[in-house]
Amino acid sequence: MDYTANDGHALQRLLDELGRLPGIGPKSAQRIAYHLLEADAEEARRLAHAILEVKQQVHFCPVCFSYATRERCDICANSSRDRSSICVVSEPRDVQAIERTGTYRGLYHVLGGVISPMDKVGPDQLHVRELLARLASDEVGEVILATNPDVEGETTATYLARQIRPLGVCVTRLASGLPVGGDLEYADEVTLGRAIEARREL
Ligand SMILES: [Zn+2]
Repeated sequence: MDYTANDGHALQRLLDELGRLPGIGPKSAQRIAYHLLEADAEEARRLAHAILEVKQQVHFCPVCFSYATRERCDICANSSRDRSSICVVSEPRDVQAIERTGTYRGLYHVLGGVISPMDKVGPDQLHVRELLARLASDEVGEVILATNPDVEGETTATYLARQIRPLGVCVTRLASGLPVGGDLEYADEVTLGRAIEARREL
């Protein structure tokens, strides 16, 4: 193949963009870039299209703040889900992790982060107000606090439990057994499923 100076710039731009992605170091960026260079145009177009499509079509669900492609997310819109239970997580990817366990049939609420004074994130920067509003209007009997078992996750859970208990809603926390300081997202399905089933009241 004959690369002009301009092609070289295009390749460098792709390497720079790939290198910005989480978990992709310079070597992986190179592997992906060269794979795409050698792939047929249709494969590259599919990838570019999928990236654009996800940015155009996916937004935050106005109820639970997870990802949605229709007005509400599939879980909020699903009438067979148990509406008496809300599982509170920090990020949309945690919803996917808990869904993979297949042990939970209730609804979710995504905070959009955790309380972290070091990063200047307090309750006002998270979807806490919206959660409390849901508890006031919905027929919710239990809130499961499923933030990560690390310092910020525990701080957030403790704060939320104090806010929610006076509303007369049962507050539970995932059982121990998850690796302390670990990420919910990386817990295996069996461990996470057990932690949900063995949740304890706070
Ligand atoms: Zn939703």
